[in-house]
Amino acid sequence: MGDLSLEPKRLPSPRRVVLPLEYPQGSVDPVVEVGETVREGQCIARDDNGILPDVRASIAGKVAAVKPWPGPFGRESRSVMIESNGAGGEPERLFEEGRTPGSPQEQLRLLSESGLRETDVYPWPLSVRIAQPALTPPVLFPFVPDLRRPIDHLILNGADRQPGVFLRKSVLHTMGDDILAGIPLIKALSGAARTVLTVSSRETLDETLERGLRMAGVEVVRLPDRYPVSLEPLLVQHVTGREIPQPGGDARSVGVAVLDVLTAAQVPGVLLKGRPHVEALLQISAPSQWINAFVRVREGTLLEDALEHISPAPRDPARVICRGPFLGHAMYDLRVPLIQQTEAVFFQTEADLTRFEDEPCINCGRCVQSCPMRLFPNELSRACEYGRFEEAEGNDLFRCIECGICSYVCPVRRPMVHLMRFGKNELSASREER
Ligand code: SF4
Ligand code: SF4
Repeated sequence: MGDLSLEPKRLPSPRRVVLPLEYPQGSVDPVVEVGETVREGQCIARDDNGILPDVRASIAGKVAAVKPWPGPFGRESRSVMIESNGAGGEPERLFEEGRTPGSPQEQLRLLSESGLRETDVYPWPLSVRIAQPALTPPVLFPFVPDLRRPIDHLILNGADRQPGVFLRKSVLHTMGDDILAGIPLIKALSGAARTVLTVSSRETLDETLERGLRMAGVEVVRLPDRYPVSLEPLLVQHVTGREIPQPGGDARSVGVAVLDVLTAAQVPGVLLKGRPHVEALLQISAPSQWINAFVRVREGTLLEDALEHISPAPRDPARVICRGPFLGHAMYDLRVPLIQQTEAVFFQTEADLTRFEDEPCINCGRCVQSCPMRLFPNELSRACEYGRFEEAEGNDLFRCIECGICSYVCPVRRPMVHLMRFGKNELSASREER
């Protein structure tokens, strides 16, 4: 890490933004028309069912288009493009500043309306995951019985999820006051009796933050320095000893709410100041060129526009990966919008590339020994490669957390994660068609 500066730099407001309407949890519908003028912070898209967070305009300007655009999750997404009118103006607020937070129900509604999206992708949005059963919309119970279970553990995760990514470290060191302000609000909404901050084993916490955590009754748990212990199923098991049922289980099914420290630090801005979510905090890295920057960008800033302000800028990219080197997707277009879930953008040159081969498995067993979910990656990837998707599903394909360790250790460099993602996508697509 050396002299990595953890202080984020705020990039200038861009001339355009592209805000995706499709997320892994579902899609939202635009509530603005092409040609309409919008204020910064104005709601531009909403979920008719009131479950998914709104999408807020991150700059003031004119809606230039609503159309498919290269998306941050490796595929096209219907998106709203806003072109800046350069006027700025007073940003829209969720309520007048100085007001005290309202009822818990109102606070959950504000979190959803703010457009706050977490760095991690969960099956349910924040306002649902941290709501104790009495605050959860009863309409959800028939579909998600897990939400009936009281939350007894609240885990604020301050440990980065994958090697090379230091976003949460940056938050711990630069947003301590915001984290402390968010804790009582989140604790009250969740009703959790035990609140834990997880950090990596070598993390040094600022004295003020440590004192504030003690006063707030938050326990600090240090995680072993071993990837992928900070991914949700393993994190929950490490902290509580509980195993999340798979496939498709969520921490809520074992009475736990997990959220990252960045989200915790953003909650007070929404609930105490009425600020909609218009900015994303990201890491931009080109490790072989010693480039590492933390930046604040307007949500939906295009990667190619952000790069104009990164100095030195990464050179000769042969591959660009969003969401980190182990868990991310390679991008096919530098016009991809940067959003909070982008988390970290990695630039690799030709010399950095790990090339996967179309070689047969030599049955060495290394992937099986290394899989943290106790799967058989060799067999699962083979089944997906030859289109035997049901067989892969029967062998717990959906328990795979896509940590990438199996591909990393494979001596013949089989593209196992790619094959398993392909299998999952094929199974999901065939279900949607039915
Ligand atoms: S990516 Fe590979 S090692 Fe990781 S959980 Fe999936 S099968 Fe196991
Ligand atoms: S590590 Fe690679 S070669 Fe070894 S068993 Fe797994 S898939 Fe086969």
